[in-house]
Amino acid sequence: MKTLADEILDVLPALTAQRPEGATVEDVANLLYVPAANARAAMKRLRDDGRALLVRYPGSKRRYLTALNHDFGPKRRACAHCGLVFAAQSKRRCCSRPCSIRWGWTRLDPDQREARTANAREGCRRPENRARITAQNLARFSDPVERENIAAHNRKRWADPVARAKNSASIQRVHGSPEYRKLYSDQRKAMWEDPEYRERCIAAMAAAKRTPEARARFSALLRERWQDPAWREKWARAVKANSEKGASKLRGTKQTPEQVAKRVAARKASMEARRAAGIPITRAKDSPETIAKRAASIRETNARKRMAAELGA
Ligand SMILES: [Zn+2]
Repeated sequence: MKTLADEILDVLPALTAQRPEGATVEDVANLLYVPAANARAAMKRLRDDGRALLVRYPGSKRRYLTALNHDFGPKRRACAHCGLVFAAQSKRRCCSRPCSIRWGWTRLDPDQREARTANAREGCRRPENRARITAQNLARFSDPVERENIAAHNRKRWADPVARAKNSASIQRVHGSPEYRKLYSDQRKAMWEDPEYRERCIAAMAAAKRTPEARARFSALLRERWQDPAWREKWARAVKANSEKGASKLRGTKQTPEQVAKRVAARKASMEARRAAGIPITRAKDSPETIAKRAASIRETNARKRMAAELGA
């Protein structure tokens, strides 16, 4: 059965007779009564299978389909990699060096490609090359113009979802490897030995926890978890254990006047906040059970006093 690609090849000479640059997607779609997307896909397939050329001309992004032996004019040919029609002085197959490198790469079989990649990777790891590459990169990076170029290139790449996914996958792969994790962990441990660094980290973490956003996030999380009875029990146990630990540590010590003042002030502030927010304040000593207990105890004391007075009298 004849495919759309075959049909396109059949009508290609007629189309190029009308338009010498080659056949556009619209030309093909109109002539063969097919959707433009199908025409485009079939044209790409013809290019990929090496049955036709898909070319473009300088200053335009438009693609044209031509026969393999199409005459582009004296000494002009289409780049084997990108299809750009260029003036070739020699037998060059590509319009530029980057295209030539990429084209060469696509012509390698997978084994050759693998071997070359391994070779290049191995070369990068050798100490003398490493030093040279580092020096080159540092020099590039300290030049403000070059630095901006690199940044602009990275921004552009990062904005492209495909490149972004590829990049982030490779970052994750490298950072998730056992060697990298070990390296990172060792580095962090060594840094943690530095008291100044440790202080700074602890202060930063504490400050981050105190921001209104962090507190709101934490309290929302807590409210959500609070719905789970198992979690609630676990939390209560941990709080109890923690407070016992703290109490045993503090047992026999006395708070300084500053600590007491700070505690009192914090309590007052919290009460004020609750009052301002309209949250009712319930104290343990105000619960009905405590009031009843207290009343009973007062009654008992009074009874005892009365009895003593009667006995003494
Ligand atoms: Zn090219």
